[in-house]
Amino acid sequence: MLIIPYYGNPGGEIRPLYFYKAMGKAIKDGRIISFGACNFSCPYCKRDGQFRDKDGGIISAIDVSMEKLFIVCDDAVKKKEIVRLSGGDPVMFPKESLTIATYMRNTYNQKISIAHNGSSLEFIRRMAPFLESAAIDLKALPSRMGEVAGISLEQGERMYKRSLQVQDFLSDAGVLVDIRTPVFGDTALDDMLQLAEDIVEGGKSENEFWTWRMYSPVRECDWLPPRKDNVLWMIHEVKSLYPDLKIGLRAKWDPNGFQYF
Ligand code: SF4
Repeated sequence: MLIIPYYGNPGGEIRPLYFYKAMGKAIKDGRIISFGACNFSCPYCKRDGQFRDKDGGIISAIDVSMEKLFIVCDDAVKKKEIVRLSGGDPVMFPKESLTIATYMRNTYNQKISIAHNGSSLEFIRRMAPFLESAAIDLKALPSRMGEVAGISLEQGERMYKRSLQVQDFLSDAGVLVDIRTPVFGDTALDDMLQLAEDIVEGGKSENEFWTWRMYSPVRECDWLPPRKDNVLWMIHEVKSLYPDLKIGLRAKWDPNGFQYF
């Protein structure tokens, strides 16, 4: 199957799941298996998901066998990491995602984590019994979702609702959910307030966390990055109206890479 290697190494990336701390759990290292196809085409994609070959595949993806991925899983268990299926998007590889999840349950009695763009409730229903946690994208308000995800306006509006359904389903099922929203230079306080209102409306709030991800420029995308002082101000305004909503700020290049509010 197609996998995006990490500096040449499929399954080589490790990312701490910071939001666990806000849920009263120890932060775990996620061992990232990054699938090499996506049903979105976000211009700001950090995984080069916007650069496609003539068949629609992500150019940087390579073919990797399931046996090799099982070896990655075995190594993750040895190092006390949690296997996280990511992307591209695992929704493009539902059979393979279930195979890996089943392997982890049957071999190690362990649940896994997933990062998903929120586009498929059906896929998430099948994966949920195998999940300890999930990162689900809520990329923008319905009116801007299509632009941010590189899909049509109508699809974007549908995907927005779908993402909320996915989040609610997972948090109600007892899965820890990290809702992820990119923040750009033109993201306004009103946008974030509307998103906050929609997030808190459904789902089990104790299982939900909201990560704001500060956009940093990627090649061939001329969107502006946000100013950190403005983002911090918006977080404080949102918190003043939604004090129980757990929020994190991720700015990869910042020495305090992750902050909790
Ligand atoms: S959903 Fe994620 S992986 Fe897919 S194109 Fe968008 S940012 Fe990239």
